[in-house]
Amino acid sequence: MEIAAAFQRRGLLYVLSSPSGAGKSTIARMLMASDDGVAMSVSATTRPIRDGETDGEDYHFVDDARFDEMVANHEFLEWAHVFGHRYGTLKAEVMKVIEGGRDVLLDIDWQGTQQLKQVDPDIVRVFILPPSMAELERRLRNRATDSVEVIRRRMERAAAEISHWAEYDYVLINNDAEKCRELVHNILKAERLKATRRVFLHDFVRELV
Ligand code: 5GP
Repeated sequence: MEIAAAFQRRGLLYVLSSPSGAGKSTIARMLMASDDGVAMSVSATTRPIRDGETDGEDYHFVDDARFDEMVANHEFLEWAHVFGHRYGTLKAEVMKVIEGGRDVLLDIDWQGTQQLKQVDPDIVRVFILPPSMAELERRLRNRATDSVEVIRRRMERAAAEISHWAEYDYVLINNDAEKCRELVHNILKAERLKATRRVFLHDFVRELV
């Protein structure tokens, strides 16, 4: 047996959750740039597109009727209401990445993470905490993409999101984006080596001894 084959494993579902403004999107982007073996699942959402976003890249932006249709067609692995809009992980997106031999990074909330855990107990869940609530609010204000009312609602939601931290396998505090990126990467690298995911190891070891 080829050594390369012994290292084959199925792609894993790697979930990143955090309150909005804790730096999750930045860390996800940095991780993509530093590791070719992982790709983002592009979710569908009914929320309006923001300046600087691209349809099909940041999200698949759809209207309510189309989202209803996707739910009825069982196109989602999970979906949830977040900030008055609906967001969902598309089965087809996840399959595309897995079939391409890569791990899937999912930027989803705690509700989606709970649902996904039911569908696939083998998922890896990471929660990113802000260093303080004051810092979180400062980051949200600096963004300027959202109205004051949206920021206020997001601060309320942040506390609710944070209350689910203990449901995750790993919890990180984002004091420094690069350090946090490194930890998120280290977790991914270690999880890839887990014996239970490396189905071909059995054959390799049988031939080895
Ligand atoms: P935003 O509108 O700022 O891009 O995202 C708002 C929140 O929705 C984030 O916390 C993000 O993790 C969550 N989210 C994005 N896509 C999905 C999804 O497909 N499913 C679920 N459950 N949450 C999502």
